[in-house]
Amino acid sequence: MTELAAPRSRKVRVLATLGPASNTPEMIRTLFLGGADAFRINMSHGDHAGKLPLIQGIREVERSAGRPISILFDLQGPKLRVGAFAEGIVLLKTGERFVLDRDPAPGDTSRVQLPHREIFEAIEVGARLLLDDGKLVLRVTRASPERIETLVEVGGPLSNSKGLNVPDVVLPMAALTDKDRRDLAFALDQGADWIALSFVQRPEDVAEARRLIGGKAALLAKIEKPQAIDRLDEILELADGVMVARGDLGVELPPQAVPPLQKRIVEGARRLGRPVVVATQMLESMIKAPTPTRAEVSDVATAMYDGADAVMLSAESAAGDWPAEAVGMMDRIAHEVERDPGYSARIHFTATPMEATTADALAGSCKHIARTVSAAAIICYTLSGSTARRIARERPDVPILVLTPKRATARRLGLLWGVHAVVTKDVGGFEEMVAKAKRMALRHKIAHGGDRVIIVAGVPFGTPGATNVLHVARITGDELKGYS
Ligand code: PGA
Ligand code: MN
Repeated sequence: MTELAAPRSRKVRVLATLGPASNTPEMIRTLFLGGADAFRINMSHGDHAGKLPLIQGIREVERSAGRPISILFDLQGPKLRVGAFAEGIVLLKTGERFVLDRDPAPGDTSRVQLPHREIFEAIEVGARLLLDDGKLVLRVTRASPERIETLVEVGGPLSNSKGLNVPDVVLPMAALTDKDRRDLAFALDQGADWIALSFVQRPEDVAEARRLIGGKAALLAKIEKPQAIDRLDEILELADGVMVARGDLGVELPPQAVPPLQKRIVEGARRLGRPVVVATQMLESMIKAPTPTRAEVSDVATAMYDGADAVMLSAESAAGDWPAEAVGMMDRIAHEVERDPGYSARIHFTATPMEATTADALAGSCKHIARTVSAAAIICYTLSGSTARRIARERPDVPILVLTPKRATARRLGLLWGVHAVVTKDVGGFEEMVAKAKRMALRHKIAHGGDRVIIVAGVPFGTPGATNVLHVARITGDELKGYS
């Protein structure tokens, strides 16, 4: 018998990236117990064999905790890099000329190879090339299919294979590179719950990835290109969730452009009921220190007040010196924010207009009914998870206990605000549904004797998209008798 992990007493979810600092079963368990609800496996680093212990570690914790855990595989995407230099590193001086070409010969202070044909096709005079996380800026003065001539606007040291961002033009790149396709096949084979797609530029990129995933996992679009912002609503419509990927977004756009965009992306995702993750540099200083800066804490809290479903740790939990402390910090910030009486009003700032469906009418109402009758929880039966997403979108005051016969559904819900998902056998009829809902609420300590609960379900059972019942029930406390 597994030891049931108590539901989190907070609504915001914590997504922790695993890596060298957190690759043992013990550390994965520590991070889960400390507050990580979902784990991210970053395909930009390491090989497939190195990911296996991470996946096994997560599934092991899931088994022993008796609680579904979401695994997100983050595909590297068309990450651009410059070639190599004869000396390994050069110093580009501001005001001088620098050429990028197709020649694989080692570079020097006058030129280097750019191993991406697509940039030569799309680049325009006047466009910027940003190197090494935007530290160096080149301006294109002449472009041909073989050669890009530039003026160094901001110089600095440039070493082998440094990253390159091209924010000013849409690149004719495929949404997934050959490496991404191999990584995707591996991830799906390993039972991925979510796939994150990097450097999405167009809705077509999301559509293409969806086709390749074929419903085997949910799809998270990382918003880190200005081109994706231009078509945000279409992208949100096609994706199952989004990430405010502030790292690359803040290179492609000036850093001060990121906060208003964070608000816009979170709001757009909320409106459509897509879970939204705010990511990157959230507790950056905790890579090296056991406590964060006040500004970092404030930034994490702001993402929560914006209404985000989840906050993410990158290097803090993957490669830092204090992974458990970083997760614990996220957990404590979430508790504090959610205790603030002003939190609910702030996250309800985003309007969530209902769609003209029975499911939405019920999902939208149960928040108000729960308030009116002081219910302890909303309990939702779902096959696909869609009703759970619509209820979570409303950000009710009480926890959402999701009962589903599908393990894959339960796991995917791990990124959703306020949701505690439980895998359970389907029920036959109305009476059984009510009885089971009460029992599960007690067993998972989401409600107690004397509490009212709201139950949302679809009758007849087993028909996806048939949500049509909202029932208010009172728990007596005797429901577990004979079921121990
Ligand atoms: P990355 O994505 O960590 O994979 O680059 C997140 C970001 O760019 O913010
Ligand atoms: Mn990125």
